[in-house]
Amino acid sequence: MSPASTNVFTLSHQSKLADLLAANERWCEHMEEEHPRLLRDYNAHGQSPHTLFIGCSDSRYNEACLGVVPGEIFTWKTIANVITESDATCRATLEFAINVLKVNKVVVCGHTDCGGINTCLSNKRESLLESGTCNSLHAYLQDVDDLYHEHKQEVFAQTSDVKEQSRLLSKLNVQKQRGRLLEISTVKDALARGDIEVYGLLYDVGTGRVEVV
Ligand SMILES: [Zn+2]
Repeated sequence: MSPASTNVFTLSHQSKLADLLAANERWCEHMEEEHPRLLRDYNAHGQSPHTLFIGCSDSRYNEACLGVVPGEIFTWKTIANVITESDATCRATLEFAINVLKVNKVVVCGHTDCGGINTCLSNKRESLLESGTCNSLHAYLQDVDDLYHEHKQEVFAQTSDVKEQSRLLSKLNVQKQRGRLLEISTVKDALARGDIEVYGLLYDVGTGRVEVV
C-alpha cells in the first residue's frame, strides 16, 4: 500500500499547481495557529540559525526530525551525504553557514535504507551507466562505491541481513563524510577557534529516531 493511496501524503503525482497553492495556504494557516509569531515577528526579519544540517537528499527526512521550526537550521542536502571540497556548493555552504551565519553546530545526518548506499551494496551502480540516463549519478556514486568495497568484508562478516548491512554502511559513510568535513579549511579553522562542534548522526526512516554515529 503506497502512502499516496492511503492519503497519508499531502500531495501526489496527480497534484497540479493549484493543489500546491492550496496546500501552501493550509500550511500557512497551520503555522499561524501553531507558531503565531514565528513568521511575522522573527523569520520576516532575517535568519540566525544555530545549526548547519547536512543530510541526504532522500525525501523521508530533513532537519525537522530534530523538532525545529523554520529559521533554526541551515540545510544542505546532498545525495548519500557525499561531501567533497571540490564541490563549490559544499565550500560555499560551509563558508556561509559558519563564517556568515555563525552556526555553532554542524550535523552530518545520514539515514537508513539510503538509495545511494543500497545501489552500491547490491552492485547495481553499473546499471546506472547501462541505462544511459544516469551517467552523472553513476560517477557521483563512485565515492560510496569506494566505501562499499573498502568495508564490505567487515560488514558481511557482521551480518548477512541486507538491511543491517545497509545500516552499517550508512554509519560508515557518515563517519567518512564527517571525517572529510573536518579536513576542509573553513571547518578546520572554526574548530580550532572553538566556534563549532561537528556531530555525526544516523536517522532511522522507520522510527524517526536519530542515533549518534
Ligand atoms: Zn540517502
